[in-house]
Amino acid sequence: MNYIKLALLGSEGAGKSAVLVRFLTRRFIGEYASNANSLYHKRLSIDGRQLNLEVFDPCSQNTEARCILEEPVDWADGFIVVYNISDVTSFLNAKNILRQIKEARTDNYEGEVEVPIYLVGNKQDLCHARQVGEEEGRALALENRCHFKEVSAAENYQEIANLFTKLIRHVMAQ
Ligand code: GDP
Repeated sequence: MNYIKLALLGSEGAGKSAVLVRFLTRRFIGEYASNANSLYHKRLSIDGRQLNLEVFDPCSQNTEARCILEEPVDWADGFIVVYNISDVTSFLNAKNILRQIKEARTDNYEGEVEVPIYLVGNKQDLCHARQVGEEEGRALALENRCHFKEVSAAENYQEIANLFTKLIRHVMAQ
């Protein structure tokens, strides 16, 4: 059995819990009250391999505080950094989080970030209120050598399932 540890990071309200709950249960939970750090477990099979997935969803109020961020940053095998496309502040925070991951997890010899990261622009269904262009998200991902996808936890299960599967495959390939 392989163990894979993922962490979801991003601003409060970006939709981290919604993305995760969508992946775990296939359902969109409109209001998901969580004011504690949560660790979720799921057994799944990808490419014929049995996996034991652990996903850390930190208490949102904490994710901007570097001292709390250090814990999942050192712990995780892969990251999903979530921002809300209708909230530019959450995008700036995602930028900051990517920088912190890079600082903590760069291989000193190769100079490359040693851990797979997915940058996720959530709430694509709110594109009428968009504050962050898809190209801006893509450019930030390119700059940080991470994968990128815009999704809607509210409307699309399959895209979220695909991005978790893709990230897990990258972690397995590490
Ligand atoms: P977190 O603090 O990052 O964990 O954010 P939550 O998962 O608690 O989501 C914050 C709010 O955004 C909640 O009211 C969710 O219902 C809402 N939300 C999450 N994802 C989406 C989405 O894809 N579209 C829309 N319209 N609302 C969403």
